[in-house]
Amino acid sequence: MTQIPPTLPLRALFDAQHHASRAQIDVPLALRRDRLSRLKALIDQHGSALSDAVQADFGVRSRQLTEVADFFVLRAAIGQLHKELPRWMKPQRVATPLYLKPARALIQRQPLGVVGVIGPWNYPLQLTLGPAATALAAGNRVMLKPSELTPHSSALMASLVHAAFSADEFSVVLGGADVAHEFASLPFDHLFFTGSTAVGRKVAAAAAVNLTPTTLELGGKSPCIVDASCHLDEAAVKIAHGKLLNAGQTCIAPDYVLLPRGQEAAFEQAYTAAVARLFPSIAGNPDYAAIVSDRHQARLEALLGEAAAQGARVVDVAPRGTTGKASTARQMNPTLVFDPVPGLRLLDEEIFGPILPVLTYDSLDEAIKRINAGARPLALYWFGTNTAARDRVMANTVSGGVSINDTLMHVAHENLPFGGVGESGWGAYHGETGFLRFTQQKPVLVQSRFSMGHLFYPPYGPRFDQVMGLLKRWL
Ligand code: NAD
Repeated sequence: MTQIPPTLPLRALFDAQHHASRAQIDVPLALRRDRLSRLKALIDQHGSALSDAVQADFGVRSRQLTEVADFFVLRAAIGQLHKELPRWMKPQRVATPLYLKPARALIQRQPLGVVGVIGPWNYPLQLTLGPAATALAAGNRVMLKPSELTPHSSALMASLVHAAFSADEFSVVLGGADVAHEFASLPFDHLFFTGSTAVGRKVAAAAAVNLTPTTLELGGKSPCIVDASCHLDEAAVKIAHGKLLNAGQTCIAPDYVLLPRGQEAAFEQAYTAAVARLFPSIAGNPDYAAIVSDRHQARLEALLGEAAAQGARVVDVAPRGTTGKASTARQMNPTLVFDPVPGLRLLDEEIFGPILPVLTYDSLDEAIKRINAGARPLALYWFGTNTAARDRVMANTVSGGVSINDTLMHVAHENLPFGGVGESGWGAYHGETGFLRFTQQKPVLVQSRFSMGHLFYPPYGPRFDQVMGLLKRWL
């Protein structure tokens, strides 16, 4: 291992990684697997310290939530990468058209070089180490910039990574928006960003200067359509789980519900019961995460206040006994918002908190039209038993991903690409899609001694016309 201090200035660190990536372009399976094993050992040996750090970052964020939403997903990803790498790394033979035979052709899969990863705070381990693991598996060097809003877990992650990897192999850079901007301006071979749409635009602009290709995993407003055929009690539990996991601070949380008009009272009852089942109390409940900062909580309260001031009916659905109690730990009560008027920030901005607006529709077409009038969502949810209605929604909406009769679960399926579309992002990862995101797929044609290519060479004449005439008929 080359010992380069991770505290090098950003540019020098990048240069060291860049140099190392060009010095070893062919990264063997054993080394890739060794890097994955070191990452896995880091999680296995320091998992509890890392989840304590996440807990300290949030104020309240249970160890179990970090276990399922960060470590479980990471372990599944690393396990799959480890197992599938030999197959995914192999050159892929492709069929050769008759007019090029007997040449043969293949696609060689090579590391890109140096990959930059910028992460958010909401799942601070999964959304940083996950893309990093995939990029390492694809044979790249990785520089990671985690969020400044999770200082404890980011700092611990940095020290653990620096103990297990050389700095020109995998290093963590700490800092806020200034450092992040400088980071995004480095001429990476690929820049992978997870965060808000607003910052994603800045990242894309900074990367464009270097013609650095990007993956942008952004946010947005993910609709949840409740069909008239839906069993409300069952759906409400899944909607509440998707909405209230991490107190709504999940990129693919259902942002708002589209409900058949007339079902408001039934939905309110079902959702209230679902919340009570999942979280019998809010304030002081270790299972119910806190809002990450006072600033984020103030924004959410302002969204609610604005909605109420403009005539929306805000229903606090926290179980009795905790309703209305402000928690010092920023555990914000879950709410439903009925009859929100157009123009509210609640309907325009991604909510990212435990507030669920309920919009009603008279016909499925109206619901579909409403979704298509906005930016393309990161996720879409549909609940019901009427498969014709389901298929109409699937055929007539475009979103980053979908779960039918559930929320969130498509993200856990490693063979489904995960990513956004339009304003919710571009490029996807997970599974082989992720491996290929960080891989140069180099096309290689191997010519044969018996090639007939000379038939197409000048000087053009009757023989050329004859060959083209034959080909035209045949193609
Ligand atoms: P954010 O955009 O505020 O910050 C994300 C990262 O960008 C941080 O590390 C930050 O330091 C960095 N950053 C800030 N300014 C920058 C700049 N000028 N250039 C480069 N980087 C900069 O997002 P957040 O608040 O941490 O996370 C919440 C958002 O992320 C939500 O919108 C959510 O939907 C989205 N998100 C998306 C996914 C996904 O997979 N699509 C996952 C989680 C979160």
